[in-house]
Amino acid sequence: MNMGYPVMETQKIAVDGFRAAFASNRVAHAYLIEGIKGSGKEAIAGFFTQLLLCHHPEEAVPCGQCRNCRRIREGNHPNVSNIHPDGQDIKKGQIAGLIYQLNKTGLEDGRQIYIIHEAERMNTAAANTLLKFLEEPEGEVTALLLTDTGSAILPTIRSRCLDVLLQPPPREQIIEELVAKHGLTRSMASTATMVTAGPEEALELAGGEQFGQARKTVLKLVEASEKNIQEALLFVQTDWGPVFKEKEEAELGLDLLLFAYRDIAAVKAGLGNALAYPDQQELWQQLALRMTYGRLSSVLGAILGAKRNLHSNMNRTLLMEQLVLNMQEVKHAL
Ligand SMILES: [Zn+2]
Repeated sequence: MNMGYPVMETQKIAVDGFRAAFASNRVAHAYLIEGIKGSGKEAIAGFFTQLLLCHHPEEAVPCGQCRNCRRIREGNHPNVSNIHPDGQDIKKGQIAGLIYQLNKTGLEDGRQIYIIHEAERMNTAAANTLLKFLEEPEGEVTALLLTDTGSAILPTIRSRCLDVLLQPPPREQIIEELVAKHGLTRSMASTATMVTAGPEEALELAGGEQFGQARKTVLKLVEASEKNIQEALLFVQTDWGPVFKEKEEAELGLDLLLFAYRDIAAVKAGLGNALAYPDQQELWQQLALRMTYGRLSSVLGAILGAKRNLHSNMNRTLLMEQLVLNMQEVKHAL
């Protein structure tokens, strides 16, 4: 194992794909490397660029030490171009300049590689300029488009690229990072990483004032609805509504509620090591003893049903009241 390239382990499938393409001399003209923040898009682009230009690759792994490998790592290899958003977006002029440069250097200087970072931020004019270039591939030119939202890339561009999907980083790793580097509590980091897979999004979510309030409100509803239906209905009318006003907030509320009951199911099954609410372990254990698997799966089904109804523009207080009732009814039925 080459310790110089951690992505060889964290993104083995994608990296092996690139290695196989290199080994069989079937390098495509354009790749779309898709993965959330923290998944290692830049590292993979660096690995593949080095591999393509390395003087002494071994078993389709760059040596990391030759002049080319070094210059790529330091960001000053003349055959490698990097395009980043200029302000809000990537502009037509940037792509046009890149193409001019690629044409000028000609075909005799070895492979040319250009990397478009945050490719989803190309504006329409830039994307169309790039598309024309991708439609007439010439010589040894390889494009690496990096994005965390592949769906935002023009389909005509996507269809010209080989799609490389990266795995999200393991949740436990992100939790550790959020706790160690950003000072989040383990509880908050655990809940936030259930809502969103990326470390930056999780940090943004958990850092906001609302999230703590949302989390508390959800936990109170779980307690209330397992204690007394009247209390739960009252809570929905007085406390839930103001916290989860907008549609997106309402959806977050239902997601957080779903994770709570999933936690209880996990604890019941003895799988309590990756909880969304690790601080509630004790309460979950009590509830897990009282709730049958049948009831748990009905409750989860009821919450998923409420999530679907959210998109039908049903009155949200009514929707929550109905949900609380549904959760109770199954309780009495069993
Ligand atoms: Zn090398």
